[in-house]
Amino acid sequence: MMNNFEFNTLAIRVGHTNTNEQEHSEAIFPTSSYTFKNAAEAAARFSGEEAGNIYSRLTNPTVRCFQDRLAALEGGESCVATSSGMSAILAVMMGLLKAGDHIVCSSSIFGTTTVFFNNYLKKFAVDIDFVDLVDLNQWQDALRDNTRLFFAETPSNPVTDIVDIRALAEIAHANDTLLVIDNCFCTPALQRPLDLGADIVVHSATKYLDGQGRCLGGAVVGNQKLVGEEVFGVLRTGGVAMSPFNAWVFLKGLETLSLRMKAHCENALTIATWLNEHPKVTKVNYPGLSSHPQYALAKRQQSGFGGVLSFEVKGGKEAGWTIIDQTKILSITANLGDTKTTITHPATTTHGRIAPQQRAATGITDGLIRLSIGLEDTHDIKHDLERGLSILSGD
Ligand SMILES: *Cc1c(COP(=O)(O)O)cnc(C)c1O
Repeated sequence: MMNNFEFNTLAIRVGHTNTNEQEHSEAIFPTSSYTFKNAAEAAARFSGEEAGNIYSRLTNPTVRCFQDRLAALEGGESCVATSSGMSAILAVMMGLLKAGDHIVCSSSIFGTTTVFFNNYLKKFAVDIDFVDLVDLNQWQDALRDNTRLFFAETPSNPVTDIVDIRALAEIAHANDTLLVIDNCFCTPALQRPLDLGADIVVHSATKYLDGQGRCLGGAVVGNQKLVGEEVFGVLRTGGVAMSPFNAWVFLKGLETLSLRMKAHCENALTIATWLNEHPKVTKVNYPGLSSHPQYALAKRQQSGFGGVLSFEVKGGKEAGWTIIDQTKILSITANLGDTKTTITHPATTTHGRIAPQQRAATGITDGLIRLSIGLEDTHDIKHDLERGLSILSGD
C-alpha cells in the first residue's frame, strides 16, 4: 500500500490503522485474547477460514504495527517481532534448522549468540564452524552439502570489521545456503541487507530501534515463506512473543530512527577523528576513518558509519580501566545504541569468557575500549575521556 514512499515517510506512517476513537498516535492494545461475535466466528478464526485476532501470542494490533513498519524499512515481505534479540535468533534457528544441519558463523559475533550456538544448538546436532568475518575464502571453504545457513554481523563488535554482504550472499546462494545478517549495529537507516542479497535480517530492537535503553525486544525480517510461515510457526507455538507495550515503544522509536542514526554517526565520527589524533591513543577502529581497512566497502554498503567505535591505549587493562573509571558522565555498561554514550572494556566484560589468545587474534587487546556514542554534546564526551587519557603515561 505504501510501497512508493521514502524511508522517513514509511518510518512514521506504516502500520497505523485508527480505531473508532480516531486517535492520532498509535494505540496500545494490552490484551491477551480477543472475543468473537458468536460461536461460528470463533470456529472460523480457529480453523483459519477467517483472518483475525485470536490470542496475543499469535497476533496483537500494536505488535503488528511495529512488524509492518520494520518490514517496510528493511524492504522485506514479512516481519516477526520477538521478546528479545536472542529470541529472534532462537526462532530463526528453530524454524529453519533440523538435526544434521551445518551452519557457518563469523567469529566476531555478539557473545551470547556464540554461547547459544555452542552450548544449545549443538545439543540438537547442528554443527557449527566459525570463520573470520572479512575473509570470504574461509566462508567458501567452510561450505558443506548440509550447510543450511551463514550467520554474520556487520560491522562487527567491538572492532568494526565489515563484510561485503553481496559477495557473501553469492557464495551462500551458489550452495543453496541462506544468509542471515544481524543488522543491530546499522539498523535499516544505514544498511539494508535484504537489498544486498541477504535472505533474513535479525534485530535486537533493544538497541537502536528503541534508542533510549528502555525495552527488550527483537525482530526477524525476510520473505513470506521463511519468516511469515517458518519463523512465525516457532513464535506462535514457542511463545517468544513481544509485549504490546514494548512494541509501542519500538514503533515510536522507528519514527525518529534515521534522525537519531544520523546524529549518532556525526558524533561518532567527531570522537573517532579526535581520538585518532590523540597522542595517547595507539589505534582507533571506526569505519568512517579512511585508515579503516574496509573504509571503501563501508562507504558503498552503508549510508552512514554507525555509532560504535573502539580504540586502544598502551598499558593494557590498567590503562583501559583508568580511562573508564575517570569518566563522570559516560555510562559504564555493556549496552549500546542509546542516547547516552556507553563505555566498555571488552576484554574483561563482553569478551571476558573468550580465551586470551583467541581474543588477541580478533583484535580485542587488554588496552581496547569500546564506545557506543550517544547524542550528548561531543565536547563533553571528549572532556570526559580526556580526564583519563591525560593521566596515562606517554610511553
Ligand atoms: C544485544 C545484541 C543481541 C541480543 O539482543 P537482546 O535484545 O539483548 O536479546 C544480538 N545481537 C547483537 C549484535 C546485539 O548487540
